[in-house]
Amino acid sequence: MAIKNITVIGSGTMGNGIAHVCAQYGFNVNLVDISQDALDKAIKTIASNLERQVTKGVIDVSAKVQTLAAIKTFTQLKDAIANCDLVIEAASENENIKLNIFKELDAVCPAHCILATNTSSISITKIASVTKRADKVIGMHFMNPVPVMKLVEVIKGYKTSDEVTNLVFEMSKKLSKIPVEVNDYPGFIANRILMPMINEAIYSLYEGVAGVEEIDTVMKLGMAHPMGPLQLADFIGLDVCLAILRVLHDGFGNPKYSPCPLLVNMVTAGSLGKKSGAGFYDYTTGGKELVVSVNFKRK
Ligand code: NAD
Repeated sequence: MAIKNITVIGSGTMGNGIAHVCAQYGFNVNLVDISQDALDKAIKTIASNLERQVTKGVIDVSAKVQTLAAIKTFTQLKDAIANCDLVIEAASENENIKLNIFKELDAVCPAHCILATNTSSISITKIASVTKRADKVIGMHFMNPVPVMKLVEVIKGYKTSDEVTNLVFEMSKKLSKIPVEVNDYPGFIANRILMPMINEAIYSLYEGVAGVEEIDTVMKLGMAHPMGPLQLADFIGLDVCLAILRVLHDGFGNPKYSPCPLLVNMVTAGSLGKKSGAGFYDYTTGGKELVVSVNFKRK
């Protein structure tokens, strides 16, 4: 089966990046969101990210124009799936939302259509179980920012067929990404390893072992990470980190994944990281300032 038409559901941080990359590599993209504001913002973000690619010489102006022309926006899912070969769902990380979307997709999409989800942590097998095409449901876990990051974690649910896995592998390569096959267990690979590291960094802060900048500096200079774990948590969203840790904790029933109480407090207080203006750092002035209230007290 040749994939030509792609529907992307959710036009937030990840959805706009996925739509951008699919359109850039020649696919027709229907981008769906329940919020017209989110769609308008997504198109602006894609245009400005394409402009940055032009400035850097990665693409030329005609590629920018073609990419934007290949993306159509919709607020109603049913209007966006005719002739669709592949859906990539990137709506909010909420199990009920995703199960409802997949039930509807299964009812309205063409029979041959592959249903992929960009979920960070929700079971692919569970999402597939609400459809009558579990063999065609798969995880396509892109990394943020999508136009820049090369990895796609391809997650096989319990019933995902080899044929569909191979098609998604080939498709990921056409987007100039590097796919890696992973089985469907909590957190897959990326978040199973990343989230305990972030949680441990937050515990180190909470227990007063070191401050925000000190922890991030150790991991940047000592481990050659491009960004420290606390700043990375701010970029991912502290609510997203907490939700993934809870999936790991529930899925494995192992206390080693229990979220640090400081992370829980910060999310409860609405300090969600960059998207809310502040988390471990304050981003409201355009830079990255330390937030005194979450920093440790030197003994
Ligand atoms: P986001 O909050 O930025 O965007 C989610 C969008 O989904 C919103 O615009 C919202 O209006 C829309 N939405 C909600 N319900 C919908 C529905 N029923 N139909 C259509 N649109 C709907 O979230 P995000 O950070 O882009 O995350 C999206 C998905 O990608 C999540 O599953 C998340 O776990 C995953 N993910 C996120 C990251 C990251 O770094 N943010 C990385 C990898 C994967």
